[in-house]
Amino acid sequence: MTASIGRVVVLLGAPGAGKGTQAQILSERLGLAHVATGDLFRAAVRDETPLGLTAKGYMDRGELVPDAVTIEMLLERLAKPDAAAGILLDGFPRNTAQAEVLDKALADKGGRVDIAPYIEVPEADLVARLGGRWICRAGGHPYHEQTKRPLKAGVCDVDGSELYQRTDDQPATVQARLRQQLGALDEVVAYYRGHGVLQTVDGRRGIEQVTADLLAALAPLTGSKG
Ligand code: AMP
Repeated sequence: MTASIGRVVVLLGAPGAGKGTQAQILSERLGLAHVATGDLFRAAVRDETPLGLTAKGYMDRGELVPDAVTIEMLLERLAKPDAAAGILLDGFPRNTAQAEVLDKALADKGGRVDIAPYIEVPEADLVARLGGRWICRAGGHPYHEQTKRPLKAGVCDVDGSELYQRTDDQPATVQARLRQQLGALDEVVAYYRGHGVLQTVDGRRGIEQVTADLLAALAPLTGSKG
């Protein structure tokens, strides 16, 4: 009754580490469904669904949405047909409890987390990066004032929609968000290291270099060399 599941990649990184940018590139290159819990929540908020109404307050304060709500949403997403070809998770799990639930859900479908690449960026760099981040309204495509400017100011290169700064990327919220999330990220990194699937990549390098390093880390999945 539970659909089977293909390869599972868990992309790890702090807010501002470049995870969203790399997730879009990697999911396309590797043919994996990109499942970003932050995007799912933002869509629910935009559509004013009951889930969105629950999530909004937490998101605006830069806090994690409670596990029960998040996990239910994620499991529903994993049950969709495109997950059978394999998924790239972005923004989940955010703590050990979520990691354990994920392992159990995947085991029920005959799967497991194959590789957990970790884009590592020092904390001081993260604050600066988050302050400059803009995303597009239509597709959530990320841009940055310093490192990834759109061709036309305020407009998404991919779909032409308006760029905006997320409420939780505004300076007062950034510090609070980092403080809460870095501790939990360390736990998740330790969890996957303990399971022998962690692959650390230096996130201070340029976008293309980080992509190349991630693809090398993921080579065992695709069967390609280095
Ligand atoms: P993100 O786009 O991944 O930075 O997520 C934006 C916001 O959505 C977070 O600050 C949380 O409020 C919420 N969120 C996303 N993923 C999770 C998760 N796995 N667990 C709890 N809250 C989450």
